[in-house]
This record gives sequence, structure tokens and C-alpha cells, in this order.
Amino acid sequence: MGTATFEPLPVFRYYPDPIGTGAFIADPDTPCLGCNRIRGYVYTGPVTTEKHFMLERHICPWCIADGTAAKRFGATFNDTGTADDIPDEARDEIEHRTPGYMAWQQERWLSCCRAGAAFLGLAVTAELERDFPKAIPVVKKYIREEYSFSPEEAEEFYSGLKKDDMPTAYVFRCLKCNKFQAYVDET
Ligand SMILES: [Zn+2]
Ligand SMILES: [Zn+2]
Repeated sequence: MGTATFEPLPVFRYYPDPIGTGAFIADPDTPCLGCNRIRGYVYTGPVTTEKHFMLERHICPWCIADGTAAKRFGATFNDTGTADDIPDEARDEIEHRTPGYMAWQQERWLSCCRAGAAFLGLAVTAELERDFPKAIPVVKKYIREEYSFSPEEAEEFYSGLKKDDMPTAYVFRCLKCNKFQAYVDET
């Protein structure tokens, strides 16, 4: 068995582009602690476990997708506490079988149409304009409401959105109505 044969990555309905966000990175050397195999990719995002296993960069995408990491290590990847109107199956899939992402504050999972939304990525102004132009009005609305800004103040805040510096926008999309959802945080 050669280890260089990369299988197609599993599909995560609540996290469609884990390569694009950097949640999975190519790693030809590190065996996965879930399946004890070198799968070619490791997970770099946040994970909490019942017994404080050190899983960062040691879990493969397949062991997240099929629930092996959750079962074997008590691993949780996301907190859906703020999505209070989603079905239990969605909550279970997002928490235990979907990669997570890193925010400045406690990560939130957004919902829409009584369903979990899909996480698309962190965005700065330039990325919003390039990748998610339809999310821009949602981000601006969030900024106005969250910070009680005037339209001018909101514009200024919006143009300062940065990924590696604060503040950052987190972009989601509803799997049912396709509308973008977003929130913004900073330290
Ligand atoms: Zn694995
Ligand atoms: Zn919706």
C-alpha cells in the first residue's frame, strides 16, 4: 500500500471548503491518531476532547467526517449553543462530524430556516468583495446593529475588516434559502 495515493476528501455539508479555509492542510508524513494511517491531510482547526488528547494536526478529515474522532476521543469541533432552533441531527453533525474554525471570541454557529448554516470562511474586506459579495450587506447590517453605528461609522468599520488582525467577519450560508449569514468579532 503506497501512502501517496490521496483519496478524495470527504464532503462536509456544513463546511464546504475546508481546504480553502486551511482547516485541512496537506501533510504527507503525519499519521492520524484516529485511524493510525497517513492519509495525506491533517486537521488544523480547534478541537476539544474529553480527556485532553492532543489532536491538533493529528486527525485526518475522514476521522472527523465518519465520527471516529468524536467516538474515540470524545472530540467536539464546534459549539452550536447559539443556534437554538436547529434539529438535533444537525447539531450532532456540526459539533461532532464537522471541522471547526478559530474566532477571536467563542465561535458561534449560525442558523437560518431552522437549520444549521454552512460555514464558508473568515473574511476581510477584500475577500468579501472577491468571494462573497452578496454577504457584504449582511456584514454591514450586523455591524450597524451590533455596534449601534451610524451608516458612516459602519462603513468605516467595515473597510477595516482584517483576517489576521481585528475585527474579522465570519461568513455562513443557509443550506435551505441560500441567503448569506455573517457575524463579526474582535478581541
Ligand atoms: Zn484518521
Ligand atoms: Zn435560510
